[in-house]
Amino acid sequence: MQSHSPRNPDKTLPPGSTIGILGGGQLARMMAVAATRLGLNTHIYSPDANCPAALVAEKIIVGPYNDLDRVLEFSQSCDVVTYEFENVPAMTAKAAASAVPLRPGARALNVSQDRLEEKSFLRAQLDLEVAGFEDITSIHDLRRAVKRLGLPSVLKTRRFGYDGKGQVILRSEADIDGAWEALSPAPCILEAFIAFDREVSIVAARGLNGEIAAYPLTENIHRNHILHTSAAPAQNDDGSAAKIAAKILDHLDYVGVMGVEFFQMKNGQLIVNEIAPRVHNSGHWTQNAGCTDQFEQHMRAVAGWPLGDARPRQGVVMTNLIGDDVADWKTLAAQAGTHVHLYGKSEVRAGRKMGHVNRTK
Ligand code: AMP
Repeated sequence: MQSHSPRNPDKTLPPGSTIGILGGGQLARMMAVAATRLGLNTHIYSPDANCPAALVAEKIIVGPYNDLDRVLEFSQSCDVVTYEFENVPAMTAKAAASAVPLRPGARALNVSQDRLEEKSFLRAQLDLEVAGFEDITSIHDLRRAVKRLGLPSVLKTRRFGYDGKGQVILRSEADIDGAWEALSPAPCILEAFIAFDREVSIVAARGLNGEIAAYPLTENIHRNHILHTSAAPAQNDDGSAAKIAAKILDHLDYVGVMGVEFFQMKNGQLIVNEIAPRVHNSGHWTQNAGCTDQFEQHMRAVAGWPLGDARPRQGVVMTNLIGDDVADWKTLAAQAGTHVHLYGKSEVRAGRKMGHVNRTK
C-alpha cells in the first residue's frame, strides 16, 4: 500500500513530469528515450555512473540499491518510480514507494524475484499450468525430487537467475551431485524438463484504470540460453496467451508492461515459464512495427496516460546483437528494412547484450 497522496489528483502525470527508473541498463535507456518523446523527463538510479541510460536521461543518481537514504532522495525528485529489472531489493522498493507511487507495485516484484514464489503463485492462485517443480534445500531434497519429477529435469536457483545463469540440466542420476555442488548453498527448485514444441511470449500492458493492451504472440528462439530472435506476430495465435497475461495483470492489480514467457506443446497447450514485471527483450520488435512500442507503453502506463495502440502494422523479426555481433553494425545499418538499436556499452563482452536489430517483413 502506498501511504503518500498523489501530487496530481486525477493521477495522470502531465508532460514535464518526471519518471524515476531504478536501473540504468538498455531497458532503462530505451524507456528514457520513449519518455522524452512524450515530453516526460527521466531520472535514473544506478550504481554505475556510466550505465547505458546515463547518456539519454535528464539526471543520473549514482548509488547502491541498499543505500535507502539515497533511494529516498532519488524518489523524492520524481513523480512516479518504476524499474527495469525484477531483482530490485524489497527494501529499495519500499523506500521508493514511501515517497511516490511505485509502478508496477511491490507484489509484482515479490512474485517474480523468486522462482518458487512465482510458480506457486501461478499454479495455486491463478490455476495456470507450470512445469512440475519441487523446493530444494538439500541434496536429499534433490534426490527425492528427481525421483518424483523424473529425468531430464532442471535445477535452478530460486533467485538471480537469468540467461541460463544459475541453472543446470540433469540428464542422469550421475549429474545430481555435480549440479548440487554447482548451485548450492543457494536455495533452488527442481523443474521437470518440458519437451516443448516452441517458446512464445506475450508482452502486455495494464493502465492505471485497469485497461489492458496486449501485443500479439511472439515466437522466441534461444541460443546458449540467451534470447536470439523474436518473431511477431507468431503463427497460430488463438488468443490464449493474451488471456493468461490479462489474468496475471488483473490479479496483481498491475500497472505497466509485463512479459510472460511460455513453453508451448505440440497440442497448443501453454505452460507459463516465467513472468517479468518490466519491458521485455521479446518485445523489442514493437519499436519498428508501426504500433506504440513497449517502452512508450510502459511510460504511458506508469504516468497514468491512456495506453497506446498495440496492434502492429507489419511483422518484425528482432535479433539480439550479443558480444562481437555488434561489430557488424555498419553492414547492418546499410541493409534496407533493418533497424539498428545500439545500447552505448563501451565494453564488448562475450554473452553481453550490445544491441538488437529489427527487420521488417
Ligand atoms: P529461464 O531462465 O527459466 O527462462 O530458462 C532459460 C531457457 O532455458 C528457457 O527459455 C528454455 O529454453 C530453457 N529451459 C528452462 N527451463 C526449462 C524447462 N523446465 N524445460 C525445458 N527447457 C527449459
